[in-house]
Amino acid sequence: MDTLPETRAHSPLTQRYLDIEAELGASNYKPLDVMLTRGERVWVWDLDGRKYLDCLSAYSAVNQGHCHPKIMEAMIDQARRLTLTSRAFHHDQLAPFYEELCALTRSHKVLPMNSGAEAVESALKVARKWGYEVKGVPDEAAEIIVCSENFHGRTISIVGFSTDPAARHHFGPFSGGFKRVPYGDAAALAAAITPNTVAFLVEPIQGEAGVIIPPAGYLQAARRLCTEQRVLLILDEIQTGLGRTGKLLAEEHEGIESDLTLIGKALSGGFYPVSAVLSPREVLGVLKPGEHGSTFGGNPLACAVARAAMRVLVDEGMIENSATQGARLLAGLRGLGPDIVAEARGRGLMLALELHHDAGGAKPFVRRLRDRGILCKETHEHTIRIAPPLVINQAEVDWAVEQFQAVFGN
Ligand SMILES: *Cc1c(COP(=O)(O)O)cnc(C)c1O
Repeated sequence: MDTLPETRAHSPLTQRYLDIEAELGASNYKPLDVMLTRGERVWVWDLDGRKYLDCLSAYSAVNQGHCHPKIMEAMIDQARRLTLTSRAFHHDQLAPFYEELCALTRSHKVLPMNSGAEAVESALKVARKWGYEVKGVPDEAAEIIVCSENFHGRTISIVGFSTDPAARHHFGPFSGGFKRVPYGDAAALAAAITPNTVAFLVEPIQGEAGVIIPPAGYLQAARRLCTEQRVLLILDEIQTGLGRTGKLLAEEHEGIESDLTLIGKALSGGFYPVSAVLSPREVLGVLKPGEHGSTFGGNPLACAVARAAMRVLVDEGMIENSATQGARLLAGLRGLGPDIVAEARGRGLMLALELHHDAGGAKPFVRRLRDRGILCKETHEHTIRIAPPLVINQAEVDWAVEQFQAVFGN
């Protein structure tokens, strides 16, 4: 296959913006060469007027589709009334947000935060406190077990237990108290648990690792081990949650319940950073006033936006649509050229193509897809993640499959 150049010809405005970004911005990202300016449902447009199907959904933060009119309306309404009080005062959006979120996820308590990483950090703090004050672990001895190839965010404590060299290199020293086990291996988890283990933190499907689905029964086994050994099961559903895998939460695929569930990303439908720690049991009850907080966490604007984002997810059947259209899209992807595509996998609309390692890497294919109006992003060398907004319809899925066929053959 001939390789496309990494960059392409641009209008003067697009080129100017690219130059300014390169000059003034920290270069911690290497975006695909496309400059977006507008979005609606599954579609986005670039500055030069070209239209694309968004198959990344901002890493699953825009599950409800771009600029959903009902979420936008809620945001504008609330922005006119009250945006931020801090938690020093009560406000009238928090209680309805708690109530609706708990009803939707069958939780008993909520800790509202902003970014996903903050939700993860918060859960780690809560788990340690629970370990010392409820389980009776000796002071400073709490251990938390995590998985290889995990992705839980970018803070120092989180990258400290990452296995990705780029995420860790030269960011140490890191905080202790974390132990790693291979993902999908219940026996390794069982062997790693000690009397001082307070929590096991795991993604139900590993997203950034390349949509890695663990063996059937893994989460059930983890649940059983955690219950037997009095260890909190913390599910990071920041990417898998809120309909992405065809269920509200991915834990439902194995019929289990966590002790702490983390959600974020699509909790606001992409309008605003909103995350939360959910606890089905009273684990969050260990936090006392002054022990944890966030200026913006649980603010009125965040609550109003999240309430609308949850409402449309359910009212507009997006979770069922994720299951139906996800199955159709996966079937289409499974028919792609076997010379290039080694495997198509996924659940709901959380899908990925694994390319043969001699196919020249995912990047050139991502650029070809862009040139046919499909935006995706490679993850690692040989994997392309495909995760359109959950509002995609059948005609759009079929059109997408045609574009994939044109690029990968069939
Ligand atoms: C995106 C993500 C996070 C981090 O969320 P941010 O909002 O980027 O901090 C954590 N865990 C998982 C599984 C994610 O996909």
